[in-house]
Amino acid sequence: MEVLESAAACHDALERARAAGRTVGLVPTMGALHDGHVSLVARARAECDVVAVSIFVNPLQFGDPEDMARYPRTLERDLLVCAEAGADVVFVPPVGEMYPSWPAPPATTVSVCGVSDRWEGASRPGHFDGVATVVAKLFAIAGRCRAYFGLKDFQQLAVVRQMARDLSLPVAVVGCPIVREADGLALSSRNVRLSGAERAAATVLARALAAGRGALATGARSGAEVRRAMRATAAGEPLVRLDYAVAVDASSLEEADAIDDVGAVRLLIAAQVGPVRLIDNSAALEGADDVHVGAATTGAVRQLERIG
Ligand code: AMP
Repeated sequence: MEVLESAAACHDALERARAAGRTVGLVPTMGALHDGHVSLVARARAECDVVAVSIFVNPLQFGDPEDMARYPRTLERDLLVCAEAGADVVFVPPVGEMYPSWPAPPATTVSVCGVSDRWEGASRPGHFDGVATVVAKLFAIAGRCRAYFGLKDFQQLAVVRQMARDLSLPVAVVGCPIVREADGLALSSRNVRLSGAERAAATVLARALAAGRGALATGARSGAEVRRAMRATAAGEPLVRLDYAVAVDASSLEEADAIDDVGAVRLLIAAQVGPVRLIDNSAALEGADDVHVGAATTGAVRQLERIG
Protein backbone atom coordinates (compact mmCIF):
# COMPACT_ATOMS: atom_id res chain seq x y z
CA MET A 1 0.00 0.00 0.00
CA GLU A 2 1.38 3.39 -1.02
CA VAL A 3 0.87 6.34 1.35
CA LEU A 4 1.15 9.60 -0.62
CA GLU A 5 1.04 13.19 0.57
CA SER A 6 1.49 14.87 -2.80
CA ALA A 7 -1.45 15.44 -5.17
CA ALA A 8 0.85 15.02 -8.18
CA ALA A 9 2.17 11.69 -6.87
CA CYS A 10 -1.39 10.46 -6.25
CA HIS A 11 -2.51 11.59 -9.71
CA ASP A 12 0.51 9.88 -11.33
CA ALA A 13 -0.04 6.60 -9.45
CA LEU A 14 -3.68 6.43 -10.58
CA GLU A 15 -2.83 7.53 -14.15
CA ARG A 16 -0.25 4.72 -14.35
CA ALA A 17 -2.88 2.24 -13.17
CA ARG A 18 -5.34 3.41 -15.86
CA ALA A 19 -2.59 3.34 -18.52
CA ALA A 20 -2.06 -0.32 -17.59
CA GLY A 21 -5.78 -0.94 -18.22
CA ARG A 22 -6.83 -1.00 -14.56
CA THR A 23 -9.97 0.66 -13.18
CA VAL A 24 -9.74 2.99 -10.21
CA GLY A 25 -12.02 3.28 -7.15
CA LEU A 26 -11.82 6.33 -4.89
CA VAL A 27 -13.07 6.52 -1.29
CA PRO A 28 -12.91 10.08 0.10
CA THR A 29 -12.87 10.26 3.93
CA MET A 30 -11.89 12.52 6.80
CA GLY A 31 -10.25 9.63 8.65
CA ALA A 32 -11.07 8.25 12.13
CA LEU A 33 -12.13 5.26 10.09
CA HIS A 34 -14.88 2.89 11.21
CA ASP A 35 -16.75 0.02 9.63
CA GLY A 36 -18.91 2.45 7.62
CA HIS A 37 -15.77 3.63 5.82
CA VAL A 38 -14.54 0.04 5.54
CA SER A 39 -17.77 -0.93 3.78
CA LEU A 40 -17.01 1.70 1.11
CA VAL A 41 -13.45 0.39 0.67
CA ALA A 42 -14.80 -3.18 0.46
CA ARG A 43 -17.27 -2.15 -2.25
CA ALA A 44 -14.53 -0.33 -4.19
CA ARG A 45 -12.27 -3.39 -3.76
CA ALA A 46 -15.00 -5.62 -5.19
CA GLU A 47 -15.68 -3.37 -8.20
CA CYS A 48 -12.32 -1.79 -9.12
CA ASP A 49 -8.76 -2.95 -9.79
CA VAL A 50 -7.03 -0.21 -7.80
CA VAL A 51 -8.50 1.34 -4.65
CA ALA A 52 -7.46 4.77 -3.41
CA VAL A 53 -8.62 6.14 -0.05
CA SER A 54 -8.18 9.81 0.76
CA ILE A 55 -7.90 10.99 4.36
CA PHE A 56 -8.23 14.75 4.72
CA VAL A 57 -9.98 16.74 7.43
CA ASN A 58 -11.18 19.49 5.13
CA PRO A 59 -11.07 22.87 6.91
CA LEU A 60 -13.27 24.44 4.22
CA GLN A 61 -16.33 22.46 5.31
CA PHE A 62 -16.19 23.28 9.02
CA GLY A 63 -18.03 26.45 10.03
CA ASP A 64 -17.02 26.07 13.64
CA PRO A 65 -13.23 26.00 14.29
CA GLU A 66 -13.91 24.22 17.62
CA ASP A 67 -15.66 21.37 15.78
CA MET A 68 -12.68 21.09 13.43
CA ALA A 69 -10.17 21.15 16.33
CA ARG A 70 -12.08 18.38 18.11
CA TYR A 71 -12.53 16.19 15.05
CA PRO A 72 -10.89 12.83 15.91
CA ARG A 73 -7.56 12.14 14.17
CA THR A 74 -6.20 8.60 14.24
CA LEU A 75 -3.92 8.43 11.20
CA GLU A 76 -1.69 5.55 12.31
CA ARG A 77 -4.67 3.35 13.04
CA ASP A 78 -6.44 4.54 9.86
CA LEU A 79 -3.51 3.32 7.76
CA LEU A 80 -3.78 -0.12 9.38
CA VAL A 81 -7.53 -0.15 8.65
CA CYS A 82 -6.88 0.84 5.01
CA ALA A 83 -4.26 -1.90 4.61
CA GLU A 84 -6.55 -4.49 6.21
CA ALA A 85 -9.48 -3.40 3.99
CA GLY A 86 -7.36 -3.77 0.84
CA ALA A 87 -6.55 -0.18 -0.19
CA ASP A 88 -3.70 0.19 -2.69
CA VAL A 89 -3.14 3.94 -2.31
CA VAL A 90 -3.85 6.22 0.65
CA PHE A 91 -3.74 9.92 -0.12
CA VAL A 92 -3.08 11.99 3.02
CA PRO A 93 -2.44 15.55 1.86
CA PRO A 94 -1.37 18.24 4.32
CA VAL A 95 -3.69 21.28 4.27
CA GLY A 96 -1.16 23.29 2.20
CA GLU A 97 -1.21 20.62 -0.51
CA MET A 98 -4.96 21.03 -1.01
CA TYR A 99 -5.17 24.78 -0.27
CA PRO A 100 -1.79 26.49 -0.90
CA SER A 101 -3.19 29.86 0.23
CA TRP A 102 -4.49 28.51 3.55
CA PRO A 103 -5.55 30.02 5.98
CA ALA A 104 -6.85 32.25 3.18
CA PRO A 105 -9.47 30.17 1.37
CA PRO A 106 -8.92 29.23 -2.28
CA ALA A 107 -10.00 31.83 -4.85
CA THR A 108 -12.06 29.22 -6.67
CA THR A 109 -14.76 27.31 -4.86
CA VAL A 110 -17.69 25.18 -5.98
CA SER A 111 -21.30 25.90 -4.97
CA VAL A 112 -24.16 23.59 -5.81
CA CYS A 113 -27.50 25.39 -5.74
CA GLY A 114 -30.78 23.68 -4.94
CA VAL A 115 -29.89 20.40 -3.24
CA SER A 116 -27.46 22.26 -0.93
CA ASP A 117 -29.96 24.84 0.22
CA ARG A 118 -31.96 23.13 2.94
CA TRP A 119 -31.37 20.91 5.97
CA GLU A 120 -27.60 20.56 6.54
CA GLY A 121 -27.03 23.44 4.13
CA ALA A 122 -29.30 25.74 6.14
CA SER A 123 -27.99 24.61 9.54
CA ARG A 124 -24.32 24.74 8.50
CA PRO A 125 -23.87 27.72 6.13
CA GLY A 126 -20.95 27.17 3.74
CA HIS A 127 -20.63 23.49 4.63
CA PHE A 128 -21.62 22.10 1.24
CA ASP A 129 -19.47 24.64 -0.63
CA GLY A 130 -16.55 23.23 1.34
CA VAL A 131 -17.59 19.67 0.56
CA ALA A 132 -18.21 20.33 -3.15
CA THR A 133 -14.89 22.17 -3.48
CA VAL A 134 -12.77 19.47 -1.82
CA VAL A 135 -14.53 16.64 -3.65
CA ALA A 136 -14.10 18.45 -7.00
CA LYS A 137 -10.39 18.71 -6.21
CA LEU A 138 -10.17 15.05 -5.18
CA PHE A 139 -11.94 14.05 -8.42
CA ALA A 140 -9.48 16.19 -10.43
CA ILE A 141 -6.55 14.55 -8.64
CA ALA A 142 -7.95 11.01 -9.00
CA GLY A 143 -9.05 11.30 -12.65
CA ARG A 144 -11.46 8.85 -14.25
CA CYS A 145 -12.78 6.57 -11.52
CA ARG A 146 -15.73 5.29 -9.53
CA ALA A 147 -16.10 7.22 -6.27
CA TYR A 148 -17.80 5.67 -3.26
CA PHE A 149 -19.91 7.68 -0.80
CA GLY A 150 -22.16 6.63 2.07
CA LEU A 151 -25.93 7.14 2.03
CA LYS A 152 -25.31 8.10 5.69
CA ASP A 153 -24.67 11.63 4.38
CA PHE A 154 -27.65 11.58 2.06
CA GLN A 155 -27.68 15.27 1.19
CA GLN A 156 -23.91 15.27 0.67
CA LEU A 157 -24.31 12.40 -1.80
CA ALA A 158 -26.93 14.43 -3.70
CA VAL A 159 -24.61 17.47 -3.75
CA VAL A 160 -21.65 15.42 -5.00
CA ARG A 161 -23.70 13.71 -7.72
CA GLN A 162 -25.04 17.06 -8.95
CA MET A 163 -21.57 18.62 -8.89
CA ALA A 164 -19.99 15.75 -10.86
CA ARG A 165 -22.80 15.93 -13.43
CA ASP A 166 -22.76 19.73 -13.77
CA LEU A 167 -18.96 19.90 -14.14
CA SER A 168 -18.84 16.89 -16.54
CA LEU A 169 -16.30 15.14 -14.34
CA PRO A 170 -15.36 11.62 -15.47
CA VAL A 171 -16.42 10.09 -12.18
CA ALA A 172 -19.25 7.63 -11.49
CA VAL A 173 -20.60 8.42 -8.03
CA VAL A 174 -21.72 5.30 -6.15
CA GLY A 175 -23.97 5.52 -3.06
CA CYS A 176 -23.44 2.78 -0.45
CA PRO A 177 -25.67 1.51 2.41
CA ILE A 178 -25.60 3.00 5.90
CA VAL A 179 -23.71 0.84 8.40
CA ARG A 180 -25.30 0.80 11.86
CA GLU A 181 -24.52 -0.55 15.30
CA ALA A 182 -26.74 -3.40 16.51
CA ASP A 183 -28.96 -0.89 18.36
CA GLY A 184 -29.48 1.17 15.20
CA LEU A 185 -27.06 4.05 15.77
CA ALA A 186 -25.41 4.93 12.46
CA LEU A 187 -21.63 4.69 12.68
CA SER A 188 -19.95 8.09 12.73
CA SER A 189 -16.45 9.28 13.56
CA ARG A 190 -18.10 11.70 15.97
CA ASN A 191 -19.76 8.97 18.08
CA VAL A 192 -16.56 8.54 20.14
CA ARG A 193 -17.22 11.97 21.68
CA LEU A 194 -20.55 10.87 23.24
CA SER A 195 -20.71 10.05 26.97
CA GLY A 196 -22.39 6.78 27.98
CA ALA A 197 -25.73 8.48 28.59
CA GLU A 198 -25.48 10.47 25.35
CA ARG A 199 -24.55 7.35 23.41
CA ALA A 200 -27.70 5.65 24.72
CA ALA A 201 -29.84 8.71 23.93
CA ALA A 202 -28.38 8.95 20.40
CA THR A 203 -30.27 5.82 19.34
CA VAL A 204 -33.37 8.05 19.28
CA LEU A 205 -32.37 9.24 15.79
CA ALA A 206 -32.78 5.71 14.41
CA ARG A 207 -35.91 5.21 16.52
CA ALA A 208 -37.45 8.42 15.17
CA LEU A 209 -36.75 7.29 11.60
CA ALA A 210 -38.42 3.96 12.45
CA ALA A 211 -41.42 5.90 13.77
CA GLY A 212 -41.58 7.83 10.48
CA ARG A 213 -41.44 4.60 8.49
CA GLY A 214 -44.08 3.14 10.80
CA ALA A 215 -46.40 6.09 10.17
CA LEU A 216 -46.06 5.58 6.40
CA ALA A 217 -46.54 1.81 6.75
CA THR A 218 -49.81 2.40 8.60
CA GLY A 219 -51.18 4.77 6.00
CA ALA A 220 -49.86 8.28 6.70
CA ARG A 221 -49.70 10.09 3.37
CA SER A 222 -48.62 13.60 4.31
CA GLY A 223 -45.21 14.95 5.22
CA ALA A 224 -46.74 16.61 8.28
CA GLU A 225 -47.99 13.30 9.74
CA VAL A 226 -44.61 11.64 9.21
CA ARG A 227 -42.80 14.62 10.71
CA ARG A 228 -45.08 14.53 13.77
CA ALA A 229 -44.35 10.83 14.33
CA MET A 230 -40.57 11.43 14.16
CA ARG A 231 -40.72 14.51 16.39
CA ALA A 232 -42.84 12.75 19.01
CA THR A 233 -40.22 10.00 19.33
CA ALA A 234 -37.30 12.44 19.44
CA ALA A 235 -39.07 14.49 22.12
CA GLY A 236 -38.84 11.50 24.46
CA GLU A 237 -35.06 12.01 24.88
CA PRO A 238 -34.17 15.02 27.04
CA LEU A 239 -30.46 14.75 26.11
CA VAL A 240 -31.28 15.25 22.43
CA ARG A 241 -31.98 18.65 20.88
CA LEU A 242 -33.71 18.06 17.57
CA ASP A 243 -32.73 20.28 14.63
CA TYR A 244 -34.97 18.81 11.92
CA ALA A 245 -36.92 15.62 11.25
CA VAL A 246 -38.58 15.65 7.85
CA ALA A 247 -39.90 13.60 4.96
CA VAL A 248 -38.43 14.83 1.69
CA ASP A 249 -38.51 14.02 -1.99
CA ALA A 250 -35.39 11.84 -2.37
CA SER A 251 -34.31 13.62 -5.58
CA SER A 252 -35.01 17.30 -4.96
CA LEU A 253 -34.71 17.16 -1.15
CA GLU A 254 -37.76 19.44 -1.00
CA GLU A 255 -40.05 18.71 1.92
CA ALA A 256 -42.77 16.25 0.93
CA ASP A 257 -46.30 17.51 1.20
CA ALA A 258 -48.82 14.98 -0.09
CA ILE A 259 -47.09 11.60 -0.48
CA ASP A 260 -48.25 9.59 -3.49
CA ASP A 261 -45.16 7.46 -4.00
CA VAL A 262 -43.70 6.25 -0.69
CA GLY A 263 -40.70 4.81 -2.55
CA ALA A 264 -39.68 8.35 -3.64
CA VAL A 265 -39.52 9.65 -0.05
CA ARG A 266 -36.48 9.92 2.20
CA LEU A 267 -36.64 10.62 5.92
CA LEU A 268 -33.94 12.96 7.25
CA ILE A 269 -33.07 13.80 10.85
CA ALA A 270 -30.42 15.90 12.61
CA ALA A 271 -29.95 16.59 16.30
CA GLN A 272 -27.46 17.86 18.82
CA VAL A 273 -26.57 15.17 21.36
CA GLY A 274 -24.31 16.59 24.06
CA PRO A 275 -21.29 18.04 22.25
CA VAL A 276 -22.00 16.31 18.97
CA ARG A 277 -24.26 17.06 16.03
CA LEU A 278 -25.55 13.79 14.56
CA ILE A 279 -27.39 13.17 11.30
CA ASP A 280 -29.18 10.11 10.03
CA ASN A 281 -31.68 9.22 7.32
CA SER A 282 -33.66 6.37 5.94
CA ALA A 283 -35.60 5.18 2.95
CA ALA A 284 -39.31 5.36 3.68
CA LEU A 285 -39.65 1.62 3.21
CA GLU A 286 -38.60 -0.67 6.05
CA GLY A 287 -34.90 -1.62 6.00
CA ALA A 288 -34.54 -0.75 2.31
CA ASP A 289 -30.82 0.01 2.31
CA ASP A 290 -29.23 -0.32 5.75
CA VAL A 291 -26.75 -2.90 7.01
CA HIS A 292 -25.49 -3.66 10.50
CA VAL A 293 -21.85 -3.87 11.52
CA GLY A 294 -20.30 -7.11 10.36
CA ALA A 295 -22.98 -7.86 7.78
CA ALA A 296 -21.50 -6.07 4.78
CA THR A 297 -18.09 -4.99 6.00
CA THR A 298 -14.87 -6.86 6.26
CA GLY A 299 -14.99 -6.37 10.01
CA ALA A 300 -11.49 -4.88 9.70
CA VAL A 301 -12.05 -2.25 12.36
CA ARG A 302 -13.49 -4.78 14.81
CA GLN A 303 -10.58 -7.11 14.13
CA LEU A 304 -8.09 -4.36 14.86
CA GLU A 305 -9.97 -3.52 18.06
CA ARG A 306 -9.71 -7.14 19.18
CA ILE A 307 -5.97 -7.17 18.41
CA GLY A 308 -5.70 -3.95 20.48
P1 AMP B 1 -16.45 11.14 6.63
O1 AMP B 1 -15.11 10.57 6.98
O2 AMP B 1 -17.39 11.27 7.79
O3 AMP B 1 -16.36 12.38 5.78
O4 AMP B 1 -17.15 10.07 5.71
C1 AMP B 1 -16.51 9.56 4.56
C2 AMP B 1 -17.49 8.72 3.80
O5 AMP B 1 -17.94 7.66 4.62
C3 AMP B 1 -18.73 9.51 3.37
O6 AMP B 1 -19.09 9.12 2.06
C4 AMP B 1 -19.76 9.04 4.37
O7 AMP B 1 -21.09 9.11 3.90
C5 AMP B 1 -19.34 7.61 4.60
N1 AMP B 1 -19.87 7.12 5.87
C6 AMP B 1 -19.74 7.70 7.09
N2 AMP B 1 -20.42 6.99 8.02
C7 AMP B 1 -21.00 5.95 7.36
C8 AMP B 1 -21.86 4.86 7.76
N3 AMP B 1 -22.25 4.71 9.01
N4 AMP B 1 -22.25 3.99 6.81
C9 AMP B 1 -21.86 4.15 5.51
N5 AMP B 1 -21.06 5.14 5.08
C10 AMP B 1 -20.64 6.03 5.98
